[in-house]
Amino acid sequence: MNKYKSILLEKARTLISEWTKNDRPVTHREVYKFLHSLSGTAPTIGLTELGASAACLIKNVKEDSDETWLKDELFLFLSDLLTILYEEDANMAATGTGSAAGGGISKQLVILIDDDTALLMYIKDELEKQNYAVIAFAEPERAAASLFDLEPDCIIIDVHMHSRNGLDVLTDLKRKMKKRFIPVIMISVDSSKATRMKSYELGADDFIPKPFDLDEFSVRVRRQTEKKRDIDELVMIDELTRVFNRKYLRDSFERIRAQIIREKQHLSAAVIDLDHFKKINDKYGHLAGDKVLVRFADLLKRSIRPSDLPYRFGGEEFLLLLPKTEAEEAKKVLERILAEFSEVTFSEGGESFSCTFSAGIAQFEDYMDYHVLMDLADSTLYEAKKKGRGRVLINDSSSPARKKVLHVGIIDDDPIIRTILQDLFRKSRLSKRLEFDIRLFQDGMSFLESDWYGDGKDDEFFIILDGVLPEMDGIEVLKKIRQLEDQKKYTVIMLTARKSEEDIAKALHYGADDYLTKPFKLAELESRLQHLIKRVKHIEVPLKSTDI
Ligand code: GH3
Ligand code: MG
Ligand code: MG
Repeated sequence: MNKYKSILLEKARTLISEWTKNDRPVTHREVYKFLHSLSGTAPTIGLTELGASAACLIKNVKEDSDETWLKDELFLFLSDLLTILYEEDANMAATGTGSAAGGGISKQLVILIDDDTALLMYIKDELEKQNYAVIAFAEPERAAASLFDLEPDCIIIDVHMHSRNGLDVLTDLKRKMKKRFIPVIMISVDSSKATRMKSYELGADDFIPKPFDLDEFSVRVRRQTEKKRDIDELVMIDELTRVFNRKYLRDSFERIRAQIIREKQHLSAAVIDLDHFKKINDKYGHLAGDKVLVRFADLLKRSIRPSDLPYRFGGEEFLLLLPKTEAEEAKKVLERILAEFSEVTFSEGGESFSCTFSAGIAQFEDYMDYHVLMDLADSTLYEAKKKGRGRVLINDSSSPARKKVLHVGIIDDDPIIRTILQDLFRKSRLSKRLEFDIRLFQDGMSFLESDWYGDGKDDEFFIILDGVLPEMDGIEVLKKIRQLEDQKKYTVIMLTARKSEEDIAKALHYGADDYLTKPFKLAELESRLQHLIKRVKHIEVPLKSTDI
């Protein structure tokens, strides 16, 4: 049966690829024929859902007409069907159990640092089956750079790596994490007492000798991530800055909201983001960055009334809730804080520097839920950044909140993959919070030659890149992307042939942020996107309607 499914998919793929490539318009008659044959064949070989989808679509197609389709409209029209077709194929190809990847459930994130690609792939596969999101790094440096942005729930480090000793990486990460609790597991072929002792001394939470039994390994990882979850539940204060954390914001916002409505009071929310903070980190080191964060938070706490509530949103972003305060008053408060903060001089290694922030303020109205209020404040912050930073703006109530833009480039020669990926973004829960600018490319050249990703654009780019492309190989395209200026803007997920260790090793080596083996499950890709996009956008995706 599986063989027939593959043949069916292949046939559809060929046909659709002809439709994309040819300039010749596609007629209703042709589409009718395609759907008709699908609705007949698919159920026979066990693809009931696909058959039903074809039967449903066919009602909108004229059987005997030479009327033609606009190509974009055609692919949009077929996108549900193609998604089902693709998923069937991917399900079939998925070996092992692969629990029906809990789409929509926010998975815990494991970061894996190991330059032994074979083991890396093996562990990643296993943990993904256990419903973790896993981001693998073959280069320890890249992992360290992403630590703040990814907010992992567990880190696994190999002690023996070519480029760098895992124990040094551990020391580095621990220093960066400061008091934040992220469990770390060391793995090593050398399980001598000295190495084990050293690992624990440096703050590892577990040590697993290689080779290990996979079941036991999974249980030990689970134990650590559960501990992390329990601790996160309890902690309400951000360890570094001693203001409330985002978890507490979730708990407290509804309470404040209810009280404000009951008492018919005003409430203002200010989203604050330090300016060019990355430069401070890059130039003076993250410890200097940490000092700036602490200093800012201290000033913030000192400058507000007891009823005002400061939170650390994540990274260098803070939120201030000001009950019984109108936007204009809130603006005055923040401008005073900004004036004082920008006067502070920090010194590091004989050099001195100062820092500013930008803030966006929105005033609460009864109809607003958490997301509406935050989006308003956030898009105002975005305006403040655009206008030159170092300023406080109030939301202009005449213009609705603008969503942040994320540019998404899909580079794949398979038209089905392009169509379903585009569809995935359009329908994703992420589109509630982000506006996607999606561009499809059939090969690397047309991507590189386009001016779409060019300079000048401040926004972030998210690129899904097929490893095997006609003419120019995906790896070559990746190398070119990594030569671009300001490359932190570009997050790249590489699609690789199943279990090709060599391809994966190359992809990671040349700077892919993550990889996904084909055929992948769409739910799996979506869960990866959530983690990676959180990184580029500091955006939380509402997963359930009750979630904040
Ligand atoms: P902009 O003015 O547009 O806000 O630029 P920016 O550089 O401040 O913004 P961006 O979001 O690019 O960089 C934020 C940086 O903050 C990147 C991240 O590594 C760093 N960061 C996040 N959390 C921490 C932390 O706890 N400590 C330190 N030192 N740095 C952090
Ligand atoms: Mg910033
Ligand atoms: Mg920021």
